[in-house]
Amino acid sequence: MAVELYSFKEIEKIKKACQVVVEVLDALSRAIKPGMSTYELDIMAREEAKKRGAKPAFLNYKPPFSKESFPASLCVSINEAVVHGLPKKEQIIQEGDIVSLDFGAYVDGYAGDSAITVAVGKVSKEKEMLMKATKEALEEAVKVCMPGNWVSDIVDAIYRVAKKYGVYPLKNLGGHGIGRKVHEEPFIPNHPTNLAQEKRDYKLRQGMVLAIEPMLSLGTEEIAHDGDRWTVITADRSPAAHYEYVVAITKQGPIILTEYKDG
Ligand code: MG
Ligand code: MG
Repeated sequence: MAVELYSFKEIEKIKKACQVVVEVLDALSRAIKPGMSTYELDIMAREEAKKRGAKPAFLNYKPPFSKESFPASLCVSINEAVVHGLPKKEQIIQEGDIVSLDFGAYVDGYAGDSAITVAVGKVSKEKEMLMKATKEALEEAVKVCMPGNWVSDIVDAIYRVAKKYGVYPLKNLGGHGIGRKVHEEPFIPNHPTNLAQEKRDYKLRQGMVLAIEPMLSLGTEEIAHDGDRWTVITADRSPAAHYEYVVAITKQGPIILTEYKDG
């Protein structure tokens, strides 16, 4: 497995791309309201990226698991949708939805990638708790991103927080290395089963840059597909939440390259 290691100069460039991604997601989270279509959010993401001289990373991107390219810039995953939600003109956002917005972009040859889950208006107590748990899982996972630790320490951190809240990490999905390309090695599973099955543990080293993205659900560890060939949903259709930060591993510890102003 070839894992890229990045210099401080390169990490600065990845950070620039990450900051554009954060700005785009901030703009989307302020604009989102009941009655909007997910397609409108996608168009807005393209425009916000263009204003900042960035190229959307997911538009026409062909991931290894697919025969086709993704036809949008933004992944919008509502309630039971976990990730890879395909924006649609007919899909309308409602009060009480939790919406994962996942955006990636290239700036000057380096990639940024981040995801946030946005509550639309007033959401249920369970959904609120799930969002809190997922954010905390991400924060705990970031803390163990130190040279000499292992990918399994990240997986354990996510699992520990999920258990604490009585929610579930979803199988067969996870984070990844990032830098010159939006998806690089290593894969960072969100569920320990995937780590054990595929012998995917990997030692963390100075200069590695990782996109960590826990996805937790209220009812199940299993995923399914909803029929549009992209959108991944929970098998029991319980709500899921998703947050993603990019982290550089340095001698001084983890540096979050996706900095949100209000946390
Ligand atoms: Mg990602
Ligand atoms: Mg992402």
